[in-house]
Amino acid sequence: MADAATSAVLHRSLHREFPRLIGGDGSYLLLEDGRRILDAAGGAAVACIGHGDARVHEAINKQLKKISYCSSLFYTTDVCEQLCQELVDSTHGAMKRAYIVNSGSEAMEAAMKLSRQFFLEKSPPEPNRTRFIARQHSYHGTTLGSLSMGGHVVRRAKFEPMLLDCISRVSRCFPSRDKPADETNEAYVSRLAEELDGEFQRVGPDTVCAFVAEPVVGAALGCVPAVPGYLKAMRSVCDKHGALLILDEVMCGMGRTGFMHAWEQEGVPPDIQTLGKCLGGGYQPIAGLLASSKVVDVFMKGSGSFAHGHTYQGHPITCAAALEVQKIIREEKLIQNAAQMGDLLSASLYSLLADHPNVGDIRGRGLFWGIEFVADKSTNSPFPSSADVAMKIGELGLTEPYRIAVYPSSGTADGVNGDHIIIAPPYNTTSAEVEKIATTVARLVKDYFSSKK
Ligand code: PLP
Repeated sequence: MADAATSAVLHRSLHREFPRLIGGDGSYLLLEDGRRILDAAGGAAVACIGHGDARVHEAINKQLKKISYCSSLFYTTDVCEQLCQELVDSTHGAMKRAYIVNSGSEAMEAAMKLSRQFFLEKSPPEPNRTRFIARQHSYHGTTLGSLSMGGHVVRRAKFEPMLLDCISRVSRCFPSRDKPADETNEAYVSRLAEELDGEFQRVGPDTVCAFVAEPVVGAALGCVPAVPGYLKAMRSVCDKHGALLILDEVMCGMGRTGFMHAWEQEGVPPDIQTLGKCLGGGYQPIAGLLASSKVVDVFMKGSGSFAHGHTYQGHPITCAAALEVQKIIREEKLIQNAAQMGDLLSASLYSLLADHPNVGDIRGRGLFWGIEFVADKSTNSPFPSSADVAMKIGELGLTEPYRIAVYPSSGTADGVNGDHIIIAPPYNTTSAEVEKIATTVARLVKDYFSSKK
């Protein structure tokens, strides 16, 4: 444990003692006290090929010996070119260029500025387009622009007076909480599409750059996939008003849902797509965006330059790491494995936990599963956030006899109440590990709630 009182680190919590990690190997984390923890979450769904991969280490070392840094203002590198090509190819023609930065928040900032500049470059230009429509209770990052984009009530609260006012919000797509039982998916989607259309009309359709959404909502709500037909309906509202569609795949993308891109499952490619966590699998801090021909071609015919940049954009070491991670995923067919293991994981979680009186919902896709906890199953009423249920389950998980890491969130993005944990093992996990994750999580959840009786 790091001593909370004397540590020099400005930790997220200055009162908490953080367990100190000294190693990672495959699906396991090693703590300084000797505990080996089964990593069922990869941090925040990041470690998609597990820890300590020798091929990635080698790729990083090789690149370090060639060139460790170059400014993207003046140069490019083989690794940056190859990574961007690999990413573009993975969309089978849907996307034309990639832009590499270091965090999901930076990717979202870049997406906002790229779409604004798109309308300035367009012929004829549409300079009045300065607004965005996003969704309530969403999370798109922590920098002021990306925080402004999100509707995460708790994370915004302290900074509210500093946030951008060019963003408005429509309802989330959260069927288990917001769709009455007697409403069909089709009717629910139509209702949400009408609401989006209404919001375009309210703010002025020719003032909106883009609608922004996560195809499968990650941290904000806990692995909530959009209902079938949702993305298509939102796309057509955007098209009707000449606005772009930005999909935030920072958490759900790059294979996490059993598809390379979460939008593939719905067959609805966006105009701009952000990428993050599973791009580099945590081996380096890397994120990025993909832009479609529609966007890129306008820049090609226009100024030919995107007025945005970072010192460490397209950094060769981060690119080398991500390129190797992506090659491993492709060569070892890990997305197929993620889909198969995801089926196993979801079946086991349902069979072990669906009937539990405090499990309100189990939802997700691929190797991206959320378990929502409720105080009363018959009314679906959540625990108060102050009870810290998910955090306590997460902490208990690290102890004997469980020794498992999940990703907990106490207090959902609506700023009211609610808890969930996310389970997101590496794509190369085995069926034995998946069974172990499901049985250990089930035991952890049951033990936690029975100790509260
Ligand atoms: N977008 C989504 C959907 C995320 O889940 C996150 C981070 O959790 C971000 C953006 C921001 O990414 P980062 O934390 O790398 O800045």
